[in-house]
Amino acid sequence: MSRQTIVAANWKMNGNSDLVTEILSGLNEQRFSDNHQVVICPPAPYLAAVQSAITNSKIATGAQNINENEKGAYTGEISALMLKDLQVQYAILGHSERRAMFHDSSELVAEKVAYALASGLKPILCIGETEEEREAGETESRLTSQLAPVIAKVGIEKFKDVVVAYEPVWAIGTGKTASAEIAQQTHEFIRGYLASFDADVAQTVPLLYGGSVNAKNCEELFAQADIDGGLIGGASLKIEEFKKICQAV
Ligand code: PEP
Repeated sequence: MSRQTIVAANWKMNGNSDLVTEILSGLNEQRFSDNHQVVICPPAPYLAAVQSAITNSKIATGAQNINENEKGAYTGEISALMLKDLQVQYAILGHSERRAMFHDSSELVAEKVAYALASGLKPILCIGETEEEREAGETESRLTSQLAPVIAKVGIEKFKDVVVAYEPVWAIGTGKTASAEIAQQTHEFIRGYLASFDADVAQTVPLLYGGSVNAKNCEELFAQADIDGGLIGGASLKIEEFKKICQAV
């Protein structure tokens, strides 16, 4: 079956108004195939500017995090309903930097996924193992320990509206990309795990690879059967490189 392909840009805490103009003017003029989606996830202060600069229907915006509550006394936090109000469509949830630095446990990530879905946002759910976990042969148990609480919380049916990003922690921002073979094997494992709950739903879930993807390695990665696109950090801040990655899917 042909799944939707997605290339999502995670700007992290980078960028400014000039970058918004540069990236969007470069991307708006691109033509993407019917089943392809580009998602720009800038820092929250730039979401509205990115949203209003979009003139290409294949480009959407995403947040880098949400709070699991609707509204209230949560200083500094962002609600999914506010994002919906800005026509934001996606939210990156459970990124390894948030898990490591901001105490986003898998249970909290499950709450956020549930709230995003209830608010009409599509979660880009990030999962991935550390280098130590891979060397200890714990990759699969780590990935299932991150997926299981989300499946338990929202139910596998809801994964029709979830994007899963496999991001080995050792490959993020390090220049050490997983080989296409390792990435495919791991994606196949993830799809198989989802299929153990519901085979039909598992076939619909876009699985993105993330971790030092660039214009040189993207084609081989995206050619793999279970890799449906990428979540791109550093390379999404350079328009020419990012355009090549978007076109490679
Ligand atoms: C990321 O932060 O999600 C990421 C994949 O970063 P990079 O592409 O820079 O490794």
